[in-house]
Amino acid sequence: MISARDFAAMRGEDDVVAQMDAEEALASNEDNKPDVIQELSRRIVPSQDILRYILAGKSTFTIVSVDTKKRFTYKVTKLKKPKPGKKPFHFVGVMTGPDNQLSYTYLGVIDDVGKFHLTQKSRLTSSSTQFRAFDFLYRWLLQEPVLTDKIEFWHSGRCGRCGRILTVPESIANGIGPECIKKM
Ligand SMILES: [Zn+2]
Repeated sequence: MISARDFAAMRGEDDVVAQMDAEEALASNEDNKPDVIQELSRRIVPSQDILRYILAGKSTFTIVSVDTKKRFTYKVTKLKKPKPGKKPFHFVGVMTGPDNQLSYTYLGVIDDVGKFHLTQKSRLTSSSTQFRAFDFLYRWLLQEPVLTDKIEFWHSGRCGRCGRILTVPESIANGIGPECIKKM
């Protein structure tokens, strides 16, 4: 079958052909914007998937208040060896400076029974917005099947378990790399 483009070309309608080519290039370009796709698909909504990401071992993520547009970035790191029969401790840090790799302040722990709280070494108080935002998020996730639409949860684009950059689309969607997900 002769396409509309070929037909135009046969009739020597060069400007029509050029426009069709431009439109086609634009359309295929829309489909091929990995950065945009990656950005959009970093958002997670089901509570179980968010909890799995947060507690994977080496997670970095941002939560955004839809109303106030305030956002905080947290890093949650698992202590390697849990006590027998207990959940592993997780240390929760919150970004408080300009460097998204280094500027984290120790906030508290998710302890060996899965409770989030401050400890003596916490550098922020329970009345800080950083504490209250994470506390609210974590409690919500434990009780509800999906995240409230008042908060957006965005993972960092790195595997929550090992910290490597995610490249496989399904992994970008849930935040865990293909090798790591087999071990979870
Ligand atoms: Zn991984």
